[in-house]
Amino acid sequence: MNFSAAREFALQLDSQDPLAAFRNDFVIHDPNLIYLDGNSLGMLPKAAQEKARQVVEEQWGKDLIRGWNKGWWESPSRVGDKIGQLIGAATGQVLVNDTISLNLFKLATAALTLQPNKTRIITDTFNFPSDLYILQGIKNLLSTGGLDYQIIRIGASDNDITPDLAALEAAIDENTALVTLSHVTFKSGYLYDMQRITDLAHQKGALVLWDLSHSVGAIPIHLDACNADLAIGCTYKYLNGGPGAPAFLYVNKAIQEKLSSPIWGWWGQKNPFDFNLDYEPAPGAERFLVGTQPIISLLTMEAALEPTLQAGMDSIRTKSILMTDYASFLTENWLAPFGFSLGSPLDPAKRGSHISIRHAEGYRINRALIEEMNVIPDFREPDNIRLGFAPLYTSFADVWEGFDRIKRVMSEKRYEKYSKQKLTVT
Ligand SMILES: *Cc1c(COP(=O)(O)O)cnc(C)c1O
Repeated sequence: MNFSAAREFALQLDSQDPLAAFRNDFVIHDPNLIYLDGNSLGMLPKAAQEKARQVVEEQWGKDLIRGWNKGWWESPSRVGDKIGQLIGAATGQVLVNDTISLNLFKLATAALTLQPNKTRIITDTFNFPSDLYILQGIKNLLSTGGLDYQIIRIGASDNDITPDLAALEAAIDENTALVTLSHVTFKSGYLYDMQRITDLAHQKGALVLWDLSHSVGAIPIHLDACNADLAIGCTYKYLNGGPGAPAFLYVNKAIQEKLSSPIWGWWGQKNPFDFNLDYEPAPGAERFLVGTQPIISLLTMEAALEPTLQAGMDSIRTKSILMTDYASFLTENWLAPFGFSLGSPLDPAKRGSHISIRHAEGYRINRALIEEMNVIPDFREPDNIRLGFAPLYTSFADVWEGFDRIKRVMSEKRYEKYSKQKLTVT
């Protein structure tokens, strides 16, 4: 598409946007706020707001303990199956529970202990640090049993935008137990080719675990079709489930019965209400449940999925690509003269739904945007301002306006009055 920097052009894109009406499904307190952080914390869907009230007042308030037999107990798998529709997973493979980090711990440990003779774990420097810490913790834990795992982190092939795919391919060998990567990387927004990497790993006999945190709800995903083994993902980013909403895990049917969870809790027990004293794993993926789930948050998140399920992932992706292309165009046209560069792939096929724009003064520019321009992006070290585009509620006029305000911060040097000292949460 031939983009124009005129505001009328953004308004025209909005008038032709088939998803425009979904913005009305979200709570908008301040129409002047340009919220570009839906990739970190999605906005509040009206359906979720109403559901939270209903769960607290009616389910908890009136049903009390009876709620467990009125849909609470099954909620991890019921809501998991709904998320399954968004990630190409047939029923019985996705469970909502715990946090992303904990689900990575459970699934990665299960994958390693399934293949006791292999000692290599392949990941990359683009992965979310918590994912790398979890892997290091697993290595440390298993070393006490005399095992010596190597964690190989593939680096960048360019200026921290694209992972070195040739190095990744070369690193996966017959001694590799697990390949685990973020499908969309959290900083540059690079999008891995899931089918290709999964095939490469399988050719060498390795299992693959995808972290979908930055892709679920933004990109159509086909876990079953790719024959992926394992996946984890987030519900409070593009799925709008609310702060701390429980995460999900996916275990391919083909390997469910072979895997053992490293945490044996009563929710993963075969018949928990028999109260047997010895553990026996539940059939299927449910063995990866541990204990009681945050039901208020889980059911609120279930309602939050409605706009995404209605819109469908293909139309969300079409708009997302148009938005990130448009944002890349405005970066080049308006911001490059101020010293900005694009920190994300130019090719939309290799990019998720956020872009990073880089500047040596990125931290202070981000502060100025939040404090005085009513624009909310976020900052990621060392020089990335991340701009997330959530097709269900971000308009093209928002994108235009957000860039216009960044331009004003630069031309008026508004960032100069802020300290370089960083706040706790950036
Ligand atoms: C958001 C995110 C996390 C956060 O994990 P929690 O355990 O839910 O705090 C982990 N990994 C990735 C890739 C993420 O994007």
